[in-house]
Amino acid sequence: MSVSPARQSAISAANSFRVTNTLAFKESHSAALYGQNVFNEKVMQSRLPKAVYKSLKKTIETGAPLDPGMADIVATTIKDWALERGATHYAHVFHPLTGLTAEKHDSFLEPDGKGGAIAEFSGKQLAQGEPDASSFPSGGIRATFEARGYTAWDVTSPCYLVENANGVTLCIPTAFVSWTGEVLDTKTPILRSMKSLDTQARRILKLFGHTNIAMVSATAGPEQEYFLVDRNFYLARPDLMTAGRTLFGARPPKGQEFEDQYFGVIPDRVLAYMHECEAELYRLGVPVKTRHNEVAPSQYEIAPIYETANIAADHQQTVMTVLKRVARKYGMECIFHEKPFAGVNGSGKHLNWSLGNATQGNLLEPGHTPHDNMQFLVFCAAVIRAVHRHSGLLRALVASASNDHRLGANEAPPAIISVYLGDQLADIFEQLKKGKAKSSKKGGTMHLGVDVIPPLMKDAGDRNRTSPFAFTGNKFEFRAVGSSQSIGGPLAALNTIVTESLDYVANKLEKALKSKKLEDAVAELLTEIASEHGAVVFNGNGYTEEWHQEAEFKRGLPNLRTTIDAVPVIAAKQTVAAYEKYGILTKRELEARRDITLEQYCKTINVEANIVIEMVSTKYLPVAVRYQTELATNVAALKAAGVKADTSMLDKVTSLIGELQSELAKLTAARQHHAHDLSEEAKHFCKDVLPLLSSIRKVVDTLESVVADDSWPVPTYEEILFIK
Ligand code: ADP
Ligand code: MG
Repeated sequence: MSVSPARQSAISAANSFRVTNTLAFKESHSAALYGQNVFNEKVMQSRLPKAVYKSLKKTIETGAPLDPGMADIVATTIKDWALERGATHYAHVFHPLTGLTAEKHDSFLEPDGKGGAIAEFSGKQLAQGEPDASSFPSGGIRATFEARGYTAWDVTSPCYLVENANGVTLCIPTAFVSWTGEVLDTKTPILRSMKSLDTQARRILKLFGHTNIAMVSATAGPEQEYFLVDRNFYLARPDLMTAGRTLFGARPPKGQEFEDQYFGVIPDRVLAYMHECEAELYRLGVPVKTRHNEVAPSQYEIAPIYETANIAADHQQTVMTVLKRVARKYGMECIFHEKPFAGVNGSGKHLNWSLGNATQGNLLEPGHTPHDNMQFLVFCAAVIRAVHRHSGLLRALVASASNDHRLGANEAPPAIISVYLGDQLADIFEQLKKGKAKSSKKGGTMHLGVDVIPPLMKDAGDRNRTSPFAFTGNKFEFRAVGSSQSIGGPLAALNTIVTESLDYVANKLEKALKSKKLEDAVAELLTEIASEHGAVVFNGNGYTEEWHQEAEFKRGLPNLRTTIDAVPVIAAKQTVAAYEKYGILTKRELEARRDITLEQYCKTINVEANIVIEMVSTKYLPVAVRYQTELATNVAALKAAGVKADTSMLDKVTSLIGELQSELAKLTAARQHHAHDLSEEAKHFCKDVLPLLSSIRKVVDTLESVVADDSWPVPTYEEILFIK
């Protein structure tokens, strides 16, 4: 026998998993599936009375308030559609500050007073729900006895049906607030910030002479990275199961050093899984587009086509739900943790962001000669200014115990937020510092020297993987977001800080235009922004120590290494000023968000400490002691037989056991600590507890390479990451 029975059965089960075919794209083409389960515009148009449809469409497209008289008609129509499709319940779906998705289900049935029941669904039930708010994090805004909370229908995000083996549920995207009106979710700030972004962006478009200006929306395309591991291994690892990451595990003989995983051929079971996820997401109208292997073994990525930001945020949550659920059907577990395995890359969620509308298109499209595209330069400069002024906030909003393992760890963007512009734009910004920009570097074509391959169009700038905030052609890509996080916080922040910047720019230009031509007013403004905020622009390698020195000491960019360093910015003066000015969140709500981040941070590390204590006490120590006894028996037997016994293995195991016991005692003692407030508690977890988790891990990982493999109690990295 080579491995323990528990591991052997996990290996056998993983190895014998067979995919059974459930999809037939030949019979029902993917285009036919698309949006099948969504109460989308097509369904609305065919089912709603014309006037109601028009009014609803106006609300969706222009943000105008919905005529309350329409709600009952819309509700009845949605109900009929849902019942025809087998729905029995409806659910208000919302995104509380846990970063997860929450849903409260209610049946359509109501007693008819004659012993039977009828399906009922009123406008009020569609528009408003009343989940208990006291059990969601509120950062001290709500006490347990103040329980009332409301969900409110977000008309701009379509209702959809979720199918289960035994039934169908109508899902209604909603915002979530407390009885006192405080915002308790991630959606509301997105919706509010989109509105103010629209107002400010239009002011600027007007200055550029546009007269027909449609509503300007932020757009978002979030790329999701994730790990997939066989569920048998997952269930045999309490750390992975409960903490979402392995708290132990020696490096396997082979990791990712051959770079043979990235864009590699997708394993069969995984590809079958991806097909099924995509089919389900198509039915839900989520425009998923790209799939591929990622850098680490067993790591993958899925990316959609971008959408209006608030819909993209809803869809992102749906993508996570579907990825997680379908994985179980394929005998796998989908892991979103930012750093589930030490020694190989962690996962992120690149948030691609831009702004645009139906009349002027993407406002961050530079065109072929960006240096004379004044409108583009103004919008681009506004973003750069915003990121420079609020780089600490962007860092703070992606702070978490799990993302701390990733940011700044030479595989993910550093914790210093800088902007990568690429050669072409960086050159233009350099020109702007001195006055007007006169030229744009060209991309051109590239010849491969073989006639059968046509010349390639070359971009004017290279890509840079080390930058946390990169301009990538016609959008910015915020790469520091963690793979398990909601994009809601960062998205609302981007909208808000860019709103503030656009407001500033519009004020400046409006004033200057009283005495200057547009061209001169813009040139002056761009020179000012390039000079004052150019410090945030960095095109080099963000991983180097020189950059960290330069960023912090020469350029004055904040380097907020851990969650506890970053979190205060969430409710700092400058953040509050921006969020309150545009009515996104109040000081109190921001303070609540800051405290929730800290609470979650403490809880996460506390749970990890619990698991470490439990696994060491009940798994690793017993196994090590048993092995020690085996070695001791051997030494005794050899001595009794008069053979010279080598005790080096026994000594090593004995010393590791001693070390493990003393580190464990330190951890147990550290947890007796009583903090006076949240920030002190968080500091304690960061400075006292986390280092002990690492030092304990080090001992256990050494034991793993010493103790007989047939008694090692949990699946190894090699098994988890490489048996597919
Ligand atoms: P890469 O991994 O090379 O960065 P992907 O194709 O995986 O690129 O992802 C790019 C993402 O950016 C996609 O989700 C895409 O839809 C999105 N995107 C493209 N244009 C915009 C835009 N104008 N606004 C927001 N997101 C965009
Ligand atoms: Mg990307």
